[in-house]
Amino acid sequence: MNTKFQAGLILTGVTLVGLLFYNVWLIETTPPNRPYSTFINQLQEERIRTVELTGGKIQAVDTTDNEFITYGPDIPALMPILLQSGVILTTKAPPSNLQTFAPLILWFFILSILWGYLTRKSSAKNEFTGNNRFPSAKQITGKKTFEDVAGIDEVREELVEIIDFLKHQEKYSQLGGRIPSGVLLQGPPGTGKTLLARALAGEASVPFFSLGGSDFVEMFAGVGASRVRELFQMAKKNAPCIVFIDEIDAIGGKRSGGMNGSHEEREQTLNALLVEMDGFSSHDKTVIIVGATNRPDILDPALLRPGRFDRQLTVSLPNLKGRIKILDVHTRNVITASGMSLAHIAQGIPGFSGADIANLVNEAALIAARKEKKAVELVDFEEAKDKIIMGLERKNAAINDNERRIIAYHEAGHAIVAALLPETDRLHKITIIPRGQALGLTQQIPFEEHYTYSLVYLLNRIKVLLGGRISEEIVFKQLSTGASNDIAGATAIARRIVSEWGMSSAMGAMVYHSQTANQPASPLSEKTTREIDLEIRRIIRDCYSQTEALLRQHNTLIHELAELLLVNETVDGEEVDIVIQCYLNRNENKKKTDHICHRSDASADLNADEGADACKESLQEEESQ
Ligand code: ADP
Ligand code: ZN
Repeated sequence: MNTKFQAGLILTGVTLVGLLFYNVWLIETTPPNRPYSTFINQLQEERIRTVELTGGKIQAVDTTDNEFITYGPDIPALMPILLQSGVILTTKAPPSNLQTFAPLILWFFILSILWGYLTRKSSAKNEFTGNNRFPSAKQITGKKTFEDVAGIDEVREELVEIIDFLKHQEKYSQLGGRIPSGVLLQGPPGTGKTLLARALAGEASVPFFSLGGSDFVEMFAGVGASRVRELFQMAKKNAPCIVFIDEIDAIGGKRSGGMNGSHEEREQTLNALLVEMDGFSSHDKTVIIVGATNRPDILDPALLRPGRFDRQLTVSLPNLKGRIKILDVHTRNVITASGMSLAHIAQGIPGFSGADIANLVNEAALIAARKEKKAVELVDFEEAKDKIIMGLERKNAAINDNERRIIAYHEAGHAIVAALLPETDRLHKITIIPRGQALGLTQQIPFEEHYTYSLVYLLNRIKVLLGGRISEEIVFKQLSTGASNDIAGATAIARRIVSEWGMSSAMGAMVYHSQTANQPASPLSEKTTREIDLEIRRIIRDCYSQTEALLRQHNTLIHELAELLLVNETVDGEEVDIVIQCYLNRNENKKKTDHICHRSDASADLNADEGADACKESLQEEESQ
């Protein structure tokens, strides 16, 4: 809403309330009226004590001390009667104009001060935009530097160069070089594009203006284009500076050449942007426009031409090293328990963006504070991570003992397959505490970032998924619906192996269907569709029987792990490794001692057995962490 309109409303309100109070006050303080005839009668009967005359107004007090008012039509005729009756008579001059209007003048004075105050405050808000039609370009203060952005080594060099342009603009223009005016940052949301642009401004010590691409897109023709021109005018006024346009694809999408009204409007806006950016090169002050998008593919190629957004930097999701550094940045102001390994946390959060990591640290700090801890510990990070990934724990969800057993055996099945097969992701944690939609969970984390997957990895992934169902079947001799998600996941992988990745020998290296390719594959014949389905079924069947054989072979291990889960509810990957190592050692060397691998007294008996060396080592490792 317009601020002047708001101020007007406020003042009208204040005036009305003032009038109301004034009226109430008048009614309270003015004596009641009496008919003139009553007054004359009382005067003749000598029941009036005092009379005050102000012009035609008569204010009188009677002998019973009641004050009242009346109006005399003919005061000169009244005078002799008054004087004869012997009342105490006072006379007053009628009020002058000044006296009548003084309160009104005072009132206006107060109102105008109020008005000035209200409108001055609102104009300060629009200091940078000049008017309030365009309130969306905000100057962001509060300095950020490269210290605040972690894991950007790849783009850093380019950015350092841009800072130099901003700082020593003459150096470049003297030699006739054209300073670039646009930098496009592309990458998934939350990877720190905004942060990077702010840091750029901070490092160069220039003002930073930020607005979203969608702010330009209006239903009314020409508004977007005029906003672009206003933005550039403001930027030139504040040069050198950085203007950040988030989600630039909202204006910079490919021009269609269609007749649709809203398209036309967007194209006008885009054209204005192109014209303004071209105009920059001749301008003698440096303004750098930083655009951000996570859809570089839909940008109009004209935007990317020399002189416009000709520098394009990709900001990707952080890898392990990057995540460690980002954790480091965000834990700077958090008190963490001594000796806590950020690398360990970073390993557990593949695929997290910088924004996710910032959120993780904050959640962990909140969790630790809720438990009234002095420092944030690793377990708090674990809890925060699980909360972010899977939703809140449902500790008191009503699950009966029988179901709990089934869940424990199901998860144990997943975990054992994952631990025993090669080329699988590292087992991170198993839990039978329900969370979000899941009743239990077996979490695996890749040792390193994957970019491609081998066929063995994919097939083993299917086997791990099937392991839960198979374990239930072996132990309880019946099937449950608890495995439906696993089975859907396994089927999806098998389908992609056959129809997208061309990895099945029966169907050959061909794409039949693709989720990612832009063009749909050509339509399939009924026969081919059936062949694909059969091949998918064969893959699942093979995986199923192999996994079943594996789990039957290690039947006792399923029981051991499931019982451990039923007692502890959550078991770490390392603990699973120990259980499995011990089991394998025992199998290898049957005569050697059995009790060594009981978790509770394992450390006491560590030296009992040579064959349990691996067991011993990993236990010590666990203790030292
Ligand atoms: P984008 O603009 O790419 O969507 P933002 O810059 O808005 O992402 O990032 C949101 C928040 O995430 C930042 O304010 C910061 O706290 C955190 N963040 C993202 N990337 C990084 C990074 N590389 N280093 C440190 N913090 C980061
Ligand atoms: Zn499962």
